[in-house]
Amino acid sequence: MPKKYHINSRPALLSTDYLHKFTIVRGENCINCGKCTKVCIYEAHKRRTDDPRKMADPDTTLCRNCFRCIQECPRGALEKSLSAEFCNIGGTYWKPDMLISLWKQAENGSVPVSGAGYRGPFTGNGFDSMWTDMSEIVRPTRDGIHGREYINTSIELGNKLNHLKFNSDGELASNVPDSVAISLPIIFDIPTEYLTPAIAKAILKAAVVIDTCVIMPVTAITPELEKYASNIIPLLSIGEIDAHEAILEKARLVAIEYSDDMIKDFASLKEKIKKFNCAVTIIRLPAVRNIESIAEKLVRNGAEVIQIIADYKGNEVDSSSGGRHLKDIIRGIHLRLVEDRIRDGVTIIASGGIAMAEHVTKAMLCGADLTAIDIPLLIVLGAKIYEALEKLIVMPEGLDKIPQPLITQRIVNLMGAWHSQILEMMGAMGIREARRLRGESGRAIFFEEIDKDTFGNLFKKPEMIKT
Ligand code: SF4
Ligand code: SF4
Repeated sequence: MPKKYHINSRPALLSTDYLHKFTIVRGENCINCGKCTKVCIYEAHKRRTDDPRKMADPDTTLCRNCFRCIQECPRGALEKSLSAEFCNIGGTYWKPDMLISLWKQAENGSVPVSGAGYRGPFTGNGFDSMWTDMSEIVRPTRDGIHGREYINTSIELGNKLNHLKFNSDGELASNVPDSVAISLPIIFDIPTEYLTPAIAKAILKAAVVIDTCVIMPVTAITPELEKYASNIIPLLSIGEIDAHEAILEKARLVAIEYSDDMIKDFASLKEKIKKFNCAVTIIRLPAVRNIESIAEKLVRNGAEVIQIIADYKGNEVDSSSGGRHLKDIIRGIHLRLVEDRIRDGVTIIASGGIAMAEHVTKAMLCGADLTAIDIPLLIVLGAKIYEALEKLIVMPEGLDKIPQPLITQRIVNLMGAWHSQILEMMGAMGIREARRLRGESGRAIFFEEIDKDTFGNLFKKPEMIKT
C-alpha cells in the first residue's frame, strides 16, 4: 500500500481577532462564585489575574454556544446575544457561521464544534439543497476514516482514455495523453488583486506541502518563485504565450482565459503551448447561460481541462437575477458530455462559490473532477466579506506583517481540515477514490427533485395535472 497522504496541521494563530458570534455580558448581580469557570470547558470564563476574587470579562472568542454557563449561573447574571458584527457580515451565501468556521479551521486544522446543535431548515439554496447518501457509515467494515481502509483523494488533470489498445506483441498501442496528478481535488485560484508577492510565496509553499497547484498570472511569476514552477499554473492570454517561453517551459499546467476564437482553432493553440513542453492546458470558461454548448465544442476541438468560473456565490455570471447555481451548471455540462460520449475527454474544474469542504464533494458528485478555491484562502488571511448591496471584501490591515510561514501553515491547516471532512464524506458514502466521486449522483439527493416528485402535483389546479 502506498504511504498514506496526510496533511500535518499545527496551531497557527494570528494576533488579531476575527469575528465573534456572541456577546456575553456579566451583569452587576454576579457574585463572583466562579461556577461559570468550572462549567465552561472552553475556558471562556476566567478570574481576573490582578484580583482573583473577581471575574474577568468573558472571552467570547472561545464560546461554542452550549448555553451551560447561562443555565448554571446561580444568579442569572450572564446574558448572551448575537454580536452586531456577526449580524452584518456575510450574507445568504457566505453565512457568518461559515466565515468563523473557516477561520477556526485555519487556526488548528480541526473542524469546530457548535454546542447548541442545528435548528434550522434542512435545505436552502445552492449546495444546501443537496444531501448526500451516507448510508455506508453504519457498516463497521468500512472504516476508512479511522485508518483501516485507504481512501485516495488524488485526481488527475488532463484527458483520459476510455480503454487501452495493445498490438499483437502485447505492446501498448494507445497514445496515452499527458496528465498531471495532484493529491487533493482542490487547486488554489486566489483573485489577482490580492496576490501580493509575499502572499503568493506563502500560498505556493502551502501548495507544495499539500501537493496541489496555484493559478497565478504569468506577470506575477517572479524569478524568486520559479523554483516552485511545478506547483504554479501560469495564467495568460493567447497573445502572451510567446513572451513567456521560459516560464511555460517549466509548467506542468497552463491556464488560458476563454475567447470565442478558441473554439475554431483550439488545436493550434494547444500546439503552440506544446511547442514549449507537454503542459496540459486549462481553459477558464465563465459560467454563462449557454455554457454546455461552449464546453461541448471545446471538448470536440481537443480541450483537455475546462475550469467553470461561476460568480462568488456560485451563480451564473450573466444573469442579473442569479441564474443557475454551480451545482446545476456542473450537472448540465457533465450530463451533456456523457450523452455525447466525450466526458472522459476532459477534466472539469468547478470554481466560484466553493466555500466549505462539503462543497468540494458535492461539486464532484454533480460531475466535476475537482474544484478551485479563492475566497476561503482570503478568509484564512483575515478577510471579511459582505454581500449586502454588492460584493465587498475587506482585507485586514497589516497583512504584509504576518510572517509567511504562519500564512502557509494556516492554509495547510484549512486544507487539512477539508481533507478530513472529504474523507469522512467519502467513507460514509462508501467511495474509496476521489475520481469515483465524479458524477456519482446516485449518492446525492436533490431537494428540488424530491420536492417535485412528492409535492409537485399537490398545489396545481386539477386540469394542469397530467394523468
Ligand atoms: S456563575 Fe454567575 S454569579 Fe458565578 S461567577 Fe459566573 S457569572 Fe458570576
Ligand atoms: S455558552 Fe458554553 S461555551 Fe459559551 S461561554 Fe457559556 S459555557 Fe462556555
